[in-house]
Amino acid sequence: MRMHYNGTMHVDFERGVCRKNRKRRFAAFAFALLLCLSVLGCDAEAAARADVFAMDTVMTLSAYGKQKHAAIDACKAELFRLDALFSVTNAKSDVRRVMDGAGAFIDVSSETLAILAQASALFYSTDGAFDVTVFPLMEAWGFYAKAYTVPEDAAIRSLLTRVDGGAVEITETAARILPGMGLDFGAIAKGFASQRMAELFMENGVTSGIVSLGGNVQAIGSQPDGTPWSVGIADPRQKEKLTAVLSCSDEAVVTSGGYNRFFEQDGKTYHHILDPRTGYPADAGLLSVTVVCENGMAADGLSTALFVMGLDAALSYYDEYGGFEAVFVTEDDTVVITGGLKGRIDASMAEGFDVLYR
Ligand code: AMP
Ligand code: MG
Repeated sequence: MRMHYNGTMHVDFERGVCRKNRKRRFAAFAFALLLCLSVLGCDAEAAARADVFAMDTVMTLSAYGKQKHAAIDACKAELFRLDALFSVTNAKSDVRRVMDGAGAFIDVSSETLAILAQASALFYSTDGAFDVTVFPLMEAWGFYAKAYTVPEDAAIRSLLTRVDGGAVEITETAARILPGMGLDFGAIAKGFASQRMAELFMENGVTSGIVSLGGNVQAIGSQPDGTPWSVGIADPRQKEKLTAVLSCSDEAVVTSGGYNRFFEQDGKTYHHILDPRTGYPADAGLLSVTVVCENGMAADGLSTALFVMGLDAALSYYDEYGGFEAVFVTEDDTVVITGGLKGRIDASMAEGFDVLYR
């Protein structure tokens, strides 16, 4: 029995909850045991599983039911196909062709158009906190080549003139960016893919399954015995621990956090989620944001955007737009949970954090 851990990987339940407090450890063990019993007791069927490396991350797929193997095979093929469409390093990808042909409309797949449409909506609704044209900045900070460096202020200011989500144009078949601009689907492609996995499971008659695409968990139906899936949210300060465990069915749970990718220079930490308005790593007081919503692509885009925006702006966004729930872990050791998650989230293991419901 494994727990679905909303970080960059799956972990066994026992690993995820190892804590100092013995009472809590015992409670967690009992809880884990219960989970094991519930699956083993009600449905001894083994999942069809696959581990796939795509989109620069490890992905895990699990499916139950008669057609589970067909569904997993279809999902694997689809993940490689999507990776080839969105990869910045593949010369034939949609993303690369639009960048190489900047200034002209370039025919692209419906998948790329769907991502660009969602990215544009997020760009406007978040006042530019989400920006799919962040590419030149990511490149300057060395995140693509893994040759990390802190760019000069002047270089950042100059690069900002090449970052503008409002300048991306799409038609029914084609996309265009301006010369000098670039595209980076890193904040949204895995969510798009997890949503697609859910559709493929359904098309193949699989009504119980779960996928974890590097921090993007998507639950398809419930567990085979009908109980919800358990998804763990990592403690951003200690990734091997959990902040909370969430019960979920038929929805996506996506976490964004600076702790997922960062480098250190001169004693300072610089992470991979940039504020496209300043050109620097977002510094809005959050350690992580988890978004829970039905659509994986929306959850992925939103978790990145809300991380950039910070707690107050994110809660205003929640009040204005709704359609999702969220868990915020702040730098001042508070876990803020939106009201819709009450009753199906256990944050008792959030050691050293105050837990508030909103
Ligand atoms: P995520 O892990 O989903 O939060 O996405 C982070 C990734 O999205 C980064 O590694 C970049 O590739 C890209 N990215 C960074 N900052 C932004 C931003 N403000 N808006 C959109 N994409 C971003
Ligand atoms: Mg994201």
